[in-house]
Amino acid sequence: MAHFVILGAGECGARAAFALREKGFAGEITLVGAEALHPYERPPLSKAGIADASDPKFIAAAEKYTESGIRLLTGVEARDVDTASKTVTLSDGTTLSYDKLLLATGASARSFPGAPKGSAHIRSLRTYHDAAALRDAMKPGRHIAIIGGGFIGLELAATARLLGAEVTVIEGLERVLKRGVPEEVAHLLTERHRAEGVDIRCGVSIEALIEEGGKAVIRLSAGEVIEADLALVGIGAWPNVEIAESAGLAIENGIAVDTYLQTSAPDVFAAGDCCSFPLPIYGGRRVRLESWRNAQEQGTLAAANMLGLDQAVSAVPWFWSDQYDMTLQISGLAEGAASHHRRDLSADAFILFHLDAEGRLIAASGIGRGNAVARDIRLAEMLIAAGARPDPAALTSSNVKLKSLLAA
Ligand SMILES: Cc1cc2nc3c(=O)[nH]c(=O)nc-3n(C[C@H](O)[C@H](O)[C@H](O)COP(=O)(O)OP(=O)(O)OC[C@H]3O[C@@H](n4cnc5c(N)ncnc54)[C@H](O)[C@@H]3O)c2cc1C
Repeated sequence: MAHFVILGAGECGARAAFALREKGFAGEITLVGAEALHPYERPPLSKAGIADASDPKFIAAAEKYTESGIRLLTGVEARDVDTASKTVTLSDGTTLSYDKLLLATGASARSFPGAPKGSAHIRSLRTYHDAAALRDAMKPGRHIAIIGGGFIGLELAATARLLGAEVTVIEGLERVLKRGVPEEVAHLLTERHRAEGVDIRCGVSIEALIEEGGKAVIRLSAGEVIEADLALVGIGAWPNVEIAESAGLAIENGIAVDTYLQTSAPDVFAAGDCCSFPLPIYGGRRVRLESWRNAQEQGTLAAANMLGLDQAVSAVPWFWSDQYDMTLQISGLAEGAASHHRRDLSADAFILFHLDAEGRLIAASGIGRGNAVARDIRLAEMLIAAGARPDPAALTSSNVKLKSLLAA
């Protein structure tokens, strides 16, 4: 009987395992996860839900794995992959033989250079375990310093304020969310955080981050010293490529795969946060995405390709972030945009459409309360997928329905 092995029991690995069964695979499936927990959702870990979540939000109930004939190994790490003998060695000493292998090892939070490892006062956020430790520190009277004004840092800033902690955000660049979010959207979010009492400092560089006297101590290059009960380092994530690298697979900002999620080794696939792939709708540009929907979609796609269905990546990237009652949604990739066109949906919701030099819609960034921008971002995504070159005047006019542009 064929044996398919999936390394990494996160969003992508779990989705791939179920998708193999949904697509009729009748062989053996082993899903190997380094964390001691069943696969769970990561997005709630930085959001308001962290406040009262005593359990992670599991992707599926434990019985669902058994019922689907998925052998789930938790708390076990894959240590070595041998693509010649088609075997994987696990941390418990077991060796698994595979017919097809999927690497869905995700990413790890980057640590601050030179900061002490394992400090209770200097932490990062990637796992449920990390989130539980942060929750204990986010209380009235406590001061949380967030290093990095990216999505996770800002979501956590909002959550910490909801829980009553004092929050300082320290960003090295001249504004928050510099990567992937237009200035107008970042400005609106910055103003909201400041109105909620977050002290946001941009263009500030850090000389040292240390632990001293039961506090995190941040020495700024300008001489100021900030003390906090906890410093959360939110400066991005690295793809987990170690086992792929030692197996000799091609690495290029992640495990390099083709449009079928096939790595440089036969019968070995990679998907989700750990891989970089060429995106046909952006001229084959190689990207690595850290997004929930991408992890899900690639899990399903990897399953199809492990079954020989030859399905190429075609999805338009999509990402969301929740901060207070605001939701930001981005579809497409805005890098390289030549012009931006604003459409106001209401007094506090708008979308920016990003066109390239040829007038092609390449991305849309929307922000508003709750679901205010969801429908129009979905339509923008369809326009991007269709390679549309919409009239900028129509994009900005609230009298022209986006749906009509799609029909055109
Ligand atoms: C706090 C937080 C908030 C987020 N919020 C959003 C959001 O609002 N919107 C959004 O679009 N995305 C969000 N994301 C991103 C999204 O959660 C990720 O893109 C998604 O989880 C990626 O799924 P994955 O399966 O590729 O990787 P992961 O979820 O990282 O799972 C990989 C798993 O593989 C395991 N593993 C690694 N190496 C091995 C090994 N050698 N052997 C066995 N197991 C191994 C890891 O322990 C991990 O459990 C958020 C992420 C975080 C951390």
